Amino acid sequence: MGLHGINRGRKVLVEVTVLVQYVMVRFGSRMAVDGGHRDGGCDWDGRWNHVTKFLERPGPFTHPDFEPSTESLQFLLETCTVLVIGAGGLGCELLKDLALSGFRLIHVVDMDTIDLSNLNRQFLFRPKDVGRPKAEVAADFINSRIPGCKVVPYPLQQQFLQLKKKNPYFHIIVCGLDSIIARRWMNGMLISLLSYEDGVLDPSSIIPLIDGGTEGFKGNARVVLPGMTACIDCTLELYPPQINFPMCTIASMPRLPEHCIEYARILQWPKDKPFGGNLDGDNPEHIQWVFERAQERAAQFNITGVTYRLTQGVVKRIIPAVASTNAVIAAACATEVFKIATSAYIPLNNYLVFNDVDGLYTYTFEAERKENCSACSQVPQDLQFPSSAKLQDVLEYLTENASLQMKSPAITTTLEGKNKTLYLQSVKSIEERTRPNLCKTLKELGLSDGQELAVADVTTPQTVLFKLNFTT
Ligand SMILES: [Zn+2]
Repeated sequence: MGLHGINRGRKVLVEVTVLVQYVMVRFGSRMAVDGGHRDGGCDWDGRWNHVTKFLERPGPFTHPDFEPSTESLQFLLETCTVLVIGAGGLGCELLKDLALSGFRLIHVVDMDTIDLSNLNRQFLFRPKDVGRPKAEVAADFINSRIPGCKVVPYPLQQQFLQLKKKNPYFHIIVCGLDSIIARRWMNGMLISLLSYEDGVLDPSSIIPLIDGGTEGFKGNARVVLPGMTACIDCTLELYPPQINFPMCTIASMPRLPEHCIEYARILQWPKDKPFGGNLDGDNPEHIQWVFERAQERAAQFNITGVTYRLTQGVVKRIIPAVASTNAVIAAACATEVFKIATSAYIPLNNYLVFNDVDGLYTYTFEAERKENCSACSQVPQDLQFPSSAKLQDVLEYLTENASLQMKSPAITTTLEGKNKTLYLQSVKSIEERTRPNLCKTLKELGLSDGQELAVADVTTPQTVLFKLNFTT
């Protein structure tokens, strides 16, 4: 190992120590509160043997400051409250893993209802549950199967928002979501809960976020300590916008079965208009037509692997869900929740990738905080535009910039002491009224150098402040 490697290793070690100390500070006092008896009602002898082995005896891999005691388990069973976001593929696994590890006070949020196609992997659901809310069915299943468990479901957004008003306390939040927007929103919510005193972060205001994600045979698990380690938005560039194949590849040099399907979908369908109208991904005849054209194309280029199923997947942009990937990633996330809640082991620092597309590959690295992260940096965001740029240009920048990736930003500012909406998409009447502003230049809109723009978007619960800097 070269000097560089050694130094880097030391840096990581130092940061991990900070992290563990933080965990100790945060949970140490809480754990000391209760202690002693275990609930005799459902905790039969030896029930938690698999957990106490980690918590009640020393071991070669524990953190040096860890002291074995019976209090850690008490904390898991009686005090530690975990919020699980998502009760789908990852969520079912997470709930099962957490409940069997001794977590009993679990809240689960999911707005979705159960679909027949979920049943192959979302194992808390049965055919009779199709159409019912995922959160409710998952909570019922865990509560009836695992004695003493108290899972509270939030099947509707409304209920969850009310919950926020009541300000309950969650020790740890785990996300098992397929939506980047929802992840970013949650991330922003936890950042908004941080409190600073004279610019110094109060560690007791930090709620750790464990985030898992899967896509086919690939997955990742990460630990975010908001305000301390890289947040979701710090590494937004890791989530590229939807993959599109370059048109030249599709048109002239296909290599993959997907290229052939895209050729049929993008180029042949609009030319031939086989059924008159637009391609409908839910119409089997349409899929069949694309499938057959893609097969012809594949034959010309000696490409194998075009199937009806793949055609359907490409046309509807379905990424196959793989049960084993969900199991691996959920297990990694649940382990991190356990490590943080008990401080028995050093938490993941801080981003694990998993890939078993071809063989099996896994790797952990330390994602770094982005100095000017729009979510967690507290640094005002700069917008560099000439005064002759149009508002449309600013809007495009906000949605297309890889580290912002906003969805439908609403831009407001203060002009002559009055709040003015420059553009807002989500309300039809306001959109129509503000649309003419898009074609106006920043100067024509009366904006000046150094002007502050407040931008609201679905990707964050808080507005983001931008400072407009005119370039010449
Ligand atoms: Zn950040």
